[in-house]
Amino acid sequence: EAGAEESTTFTGKNVAEFQKNAPDWVFDVYETIGGTPSLTVAGWAKAIGDLFLRLLKMITIPLIVTSLVTGVAGLGDTSRLGKLFTKTMLYYFTTSVLAITTGIIMVNLIQPGVGEQLPGNDHAIVGGADQSLTGVFGGLIQNMIPSNPIESLASANFLSIITFSILLGVFIIKAGEKGDGLRNLFASAFEVIMGMTMFVISLAPIGVCAFMVYATASQGIDIFMTLAKYMLTVFLALLVHAVIVLPLIVKFVARRSPWEFARAMSPALMTAFSTASSNGTLPLTLASVENRGGVPNRVSSFVLPLGATINMDGTALYEAVAVLFIAQATPGFDMSLQSQIIVAVTALMASVGAAGIPHAGLVMMAIILQAVDLPIEAQGVIIAVDRVLDMCRTSVNVWSDSCGCAVVARFDAPDNDSEAGG
Ligand code: ASP
Repeated sequence: EAGAEESTTFTGKNVAEFQKNAPDWVFDVYETIGGTPSLTVAGWAKAIGDLFLRLLKMITIPLIVTSLVTGVAGLGDTSRLGKLFTKTMLYYFTTSVLAITTGIIMVNLIQPGVGEQLPGNDHAIVGGADQSLTGVFGGLIQNMIPSNPIESLASANFLSIITFSILLGVFIIKAGEKGDGLRNLFASAFEVIMGMTMFVISLAPIGVCAFMVYATASQGIDIFMTLAKYMLTVFLALLVHAVIVLPLIVKFVARRSPWEFARAMSPALMTAFSTASSNGTLPLTLASVENRGGVPNRVSSFVLPLGATINMDGTALYEAVAVLFIAQATPGFDMSLQSQIIVAVTALMASVGAAGIPHAGLVMMAIILQAVDLPIEAQGVIIAVDRVLDMCRTSVNVWSDSCGCAVVARFDAPDNDSEAGG
């Protein structure tokens, strides 16, 4: 974690001092280039890519906080939305868990990371987390309740931040008019941070190129073979979820033709694929669900905006596969059921916390890596192929939100609901 601060020692003047202070990945570069403490193409590429990673890390905390508070506070009246909320949450939760399960099964079947060496990930894990089930969940729950939210912000403790943000959003609603100041403040901050995020994301091609160069220079063609298997695992798992699991839910729970519904949603799905942004696609998703999918507005206007923020089946699945891929490639990582359960639970949290913008899932992966003691730097190499995977997972995210509308609409017949007026 202290890693990147030491990059000023990059002059290589004092080798011993440098080696004592340098971040771990520097040694990987050195190993690759034969232990010479001078910068090579690979070293420079990694250094540039690392600047991009730092930018991503820089916006993570403000983005989670403003996005979550705004999303939750935007629910409006909690009592009126209570019923809708419960049904929607049940759908979000069930499908995300199904997606993660599919991902975990696939990554255990294909084992894309076993026997592979990822650059930046040659080091054994430090520190043994308590791997017992009580230790695991005790730790998770403790982590979820911050004793000092400011401290959680400063130390980037994601789980604590997520809990506090959700509670903040809920009580902004409960405060009624008096909460409007805070609601508007967060909404405005979210707009601004989103602008910053889009700026950082516009630099992604540079970061991606840098990591590609680093990967090529340090690992040659092998790394692409490694990533090919990893990408295939992600693709197949996403495909199973989108083409088998969700359609079965549409067919048997929502009682409609999945094929017809998918055709109705096609403009939104194509936009999601090309933009890799659930938020960006939202207007089209709303329009397609209502005008082409025949879902009433009161359902879609609730299910979709919330879904674009917190229901991300594709992202949840992707997080689980990516982290277990990194874990498989890390010598000494314990791939026990307990570890995989931690990955699953934190993948769910990460997908809830991820904003509906390109590469958000990649940023959020730090939560999971942190939870299972894997080096965050290991993300470096998978950034290279993140865009194409992001396009696929975003389509699945939007598809799942849309199916959610069909499901909730089926159980939301007007006669089941007390007339709320308006
Ligand atoms: N790009 C995704 C979305 O907008 C989030 C992610 O990066 O997984 O839904």
